[in-house]
Amino acid sequence: MDEVSKIKPEYLRSFLKSEKLMPCTWIVVRIDGCHFHRFSDVHEFEKPNDERALSLMNSCAVAILQEFEDVIFSYGVSDEYSFVLKRDCSFYQRQASDIVSVIVSFFTSSYVMKWKVFFPQKELKYPPSFDGRAVCYPSTEILRDYLSWRQVDCHINNQYNTCFWMLVKSGKSKSEAQRTLKGTQAREKNELLAQDFGIDYNNLPIIFRQGSSVFRKHLDENENRASGDKLQTNVIVEHCNIIEQSFWNAHPFVLG
Ligand code: ATP
Ligand code: ATP
Ligand code: MG
Ligand code: MG
Ligand code: MG
Ligand code: MG
Repeated sequence: MDEVSKIKPEYLRSFLKSEKLMPCTWIVVRIDGCHFHRFSDVHEFEKPNDERALSLMNSCAVAILQEFEDVIFSYGVSDEYSFVLKRDCSFYQRQASDIVSVIVSFFTSSYVMKWKVFFPQKELKYPPSFDGRAVCYPSTEILRDYLSWRQVDCHINNQYNTCFWMLVKSGKSKSEAQRTLKGTQAREKNELLAQDFGIDYNNLPIIFRQGSSVFRKHLDENENRASGDKLQTNVIVEHCNIIEQSFWNAHPFVLG
């Protein structure tokens, strides 16, 4: 014990490597469910899109924006969510591991706590986990490219998955369905849905096609100024095209 008490804490702290994220850049923390292919099987998610599971993810993202003021926008699809932090924030002194771990753990514990709200008849069979990483984007233009990339991915995956599961549900094996779709273009997939299954892709629920955006709706500015209150906000979920400029024009406060 005597030996141990002689050890100076500064000496041990000196091994800690600082991983501060670059100042004045947009920080994006993307989290993704670990092995959700299996998780969705075990919990019998509807394929290709289980709306309850998406709503649960969205509710956890809302909780993140309500808890952490520095998170200003988020975009989610499937088992992933991207959280954008204010460019000039000093959340956890911009230490990557602190930021990622606090967001991932808050999201995961919210997911478990809210499970029974979205799946009242279904027992949570084992503890889900999410991984996370933080990336800095140096300009708003590049941040917008990042978000557009996630939304394009949502569209491509949804189109593929919709075709795949329609083929499987109509009696094809999974490998047959895979073979049928291999190398097909977007147009051919839309034709397959229309001709073989009478589905107009553009009429599928917008939450499946566009994913979910979560941000704060700023209430009437003048009203707040008059009452002298801090700008009041509430967190909302929308399913919209975030690739087009019009979304950002309509919500100028989001990226400020
Ligand atoms: P990893 O651990 O590498 O992320 P993963 O199994 O989670 O592996 P992903 O590429 O993240 O793989 O894909 C998530 C999978 O979870 C999807 O392919 C889909 O099968 C399933 N999934 C997630 N959300 C839903 C949902 N709302 N409805 C139906 N299936 C879902
Ligand atoms: P931070 O968010 O900065 O970590 P904190 O409130 O969690 O703030 P810590 O320095 O991590 O502060 O200290 C954890 C505190 O939690 C302790 O000071 C103590 O009050 C409380 N605590 C943790 N575990 C126990 C326990 N097993 N029994 C009683 N109190 C506990
Ligand atoms: Mg992953
Ligand atoms: Mg995953
Ligand atoms: Mg994923
Ligand atoms: Mg603590």
